[in-house]
Amino acid sequence: MSYVKKQMPQIKENNFDLFDPVNIFPELLSVPKAQIPVENEPVSIFPELLAIPDVEEITDIDAAVIVENKIEAESESKSEKELPSVSELYEIFDRLNIKYFKNQIPRLIIKYSKRMYIAGSFSPLKNEIKMGWKYHSIFRDDIEDTMAHEMIHYFYPNHGRRFKDMANNFGVSLKAKEHPDLRLACRYLYYCPNCDREYPRRKRLRMASCGKCSSGRHFDSRFKLKLKKM
Ligand SMILES: [Zn+2]
Ligand SMILES: [Zn+2]
Repeated sequence: MSYVKKQMPQIKENNFDLFDPVNIFPELLSVPKAQIPVENEPVSIFPELLAIPDVEEITDIDAAVIVENKIEAESESKSEKELPSVSELYEIFDRLNIKYFKNQIPRLIIKYSKRMYIAGSFSPLKNEIKMGWKYHSIFRDDIEDTMAHEMIHYFYPNHGRRFKDMANNFGVSLKAKEHPDLRLACRYLYYCPNCDREYPRRKRLRMASCGKCSSGRHFDSRFKLKLKKM
């Protein structure tokens, strides 16, 4: 069996849906990020990527799987413990809704995302919370924390002052943890030229400015993110 074929399940799992999987460098899937040769930066090889109007405005910092909580070798505890079922997620939601929010949040759609590498996301448009499957396979005990964080986003879309106050009141994390398995998939590392905050991303960004430095949800060219050479 060819190497690529053997890697197929992994490729599928990583869900590089923009690519024809056969074209993916198999070594990308198995080599720790630091060792990926710069010359093989896939950008040039996937011109279709460049054509995608991938305007992603960064305001939700947890999307970046950002730093601060450096995790020691926790990969062993990357347990076989099962994650809660979706209906158990709803139970967690209901419980937290009573505990923290006086039951004010209407029932949202809650689902897992198997392709996200981030902890969670909340979409006000869809009224939907997505929980990162991969993230919580590693940080199994953080499910409630993530859920509460995303529920606060129901009231405050950004991590502004009021978001922070509420999160701190509840003892809820502001940021997701970091883990090598979760960064592997981020091919691009952007940074803010003003505050140096890093934004690992799977896709190329254009017109993205630092969520911390830009005010409101608007693109601010002064804080346009730059691509870091890795
Ligand atoms: Zn958040
Ligand atoms: Zn910044």
